[in-house]
Amino acid sequence: MPAEPAIDVPRHLFEAYERLAAGPTRPIAGGTDVMVAITGELGPAPERMLDLSRVDALRGIHLEPDGLVLGARTTYTEIRRSALCREHLPALVEAAATIGAAQIQNRGTLGGNIANASPAGDTLPVLLAADAMILVGGQRGEREVAAKDFFVAYRKTALAPDELILHVRFPVAPGREMRFRKVGTRRAQAISKVVMAVSWHDLGSNGWHDVRVALGSVAATPIRAPKTERVLEGAQPTPETVDLAAETLAAEIQPIDDVRSTADYRRAVAARILHRLLRDAGGW
Ligand SMILES: Cc1cc2nc3c(=O)[nH]c(=O)nc-3n(C[C@H](O)[C@H](O)[C@H](O)COP(=O)(O)OP(=O)(O)OC[C@H]3O[C@@H](n4cnc5c(N)ncnc54)[C@H](O)[C@@H]3O)c2cc1C
Repeated sequence: MPAEPAIDVPRHLFEAYERLAAGPTRPIAGGTDVMVAITGELGPAPERMLDLSRVDALRGIHLEPDGLVLGARTTYTEIRRSALCREHLPALVEAAATIGAAQIQNRGTLGGNIANASPAGDTLPVLLAADAMILVGGQRGEREVAAKDFFVAYRKTALAPDELILHVRFPVAPGREMRFRKVGTRRAQAISKVVMAVSWHDLGSNGWHDVRVALGSVAATPIRAPKTERVLEGAQPTPETVDLAAETLAAEIQPIDDVRSTADYRRAVAARILHRLLRDAGGW
């Protein structure tokens, strides 16, 4: 639902909103996705671009009472170097470290990964597993969209053409744990064959709670695996539970064959990653 129009919109952001409202315009942040599309060989090239490099309102990493807030223009290098991210969101730091290599990490941004909405975007399962909220804005005002509602179809998001991603808020809850794993052809410059983030709360005597199993590269969008989450929810960390969760995940996801991998490989690897992450969490 649209919020009140932003009253104190900083000048560069205000101007950016004006440009976007004036007609089809493609924002450019780090340019690591947009510049690949600029030749038009991969689809229509953008006719007008909007450089976000001076929009400082999209920068910064802050710890606020309701979570860790990262500006859309935060680069992967900034995430890797951030003491706040390392303390409160180490899974995102791990994800950032797997993206491209140093050059891409220096330019590529969190907001660009989200807006690009590739099913293989490596930060996206982390957003889903963290219950992250994405703040978007434009001339009509600002609104927060849950990560789980943001990726609506293959490379389609809840973002309107005249809106920008402003920041991402990751709730920080004591006792919440998250693990991340990416499998690609190499350790750098590799698009994921399977990427996964798993989170839960308080693996004490009550077992797993608030479980989130989120994956990329196994569907048209980054997804959660609700059937697998239900197997784990409230269950004790036993070998039987972990086996059942992995079997459920392999049956639940519907990956495709493509140039990077086969559906069978993706299903098998997703199940093994989950098995390993849960066994590690259970301590055996
Ligand atoms: C060699 C190479 C390796 C790569 N490796 C990986 C990898 O391992 N994992 C991975 O996930 N990705 C990878 N990528 C893809 C890319 O680097 C990431 O998706 C990156 O996060 C994009 O960020 P950017 O700032 O460069 O986006 P840009 O290219 O500037 O923009 C990408 C899209 O987002 C839109 N956009 C950007 N910022 C905003 C905003 N604030 N609001 C609204 N829309 C916005 C743009 O209009 C565009 O549609 C790789 C790319 C290259 C070229």
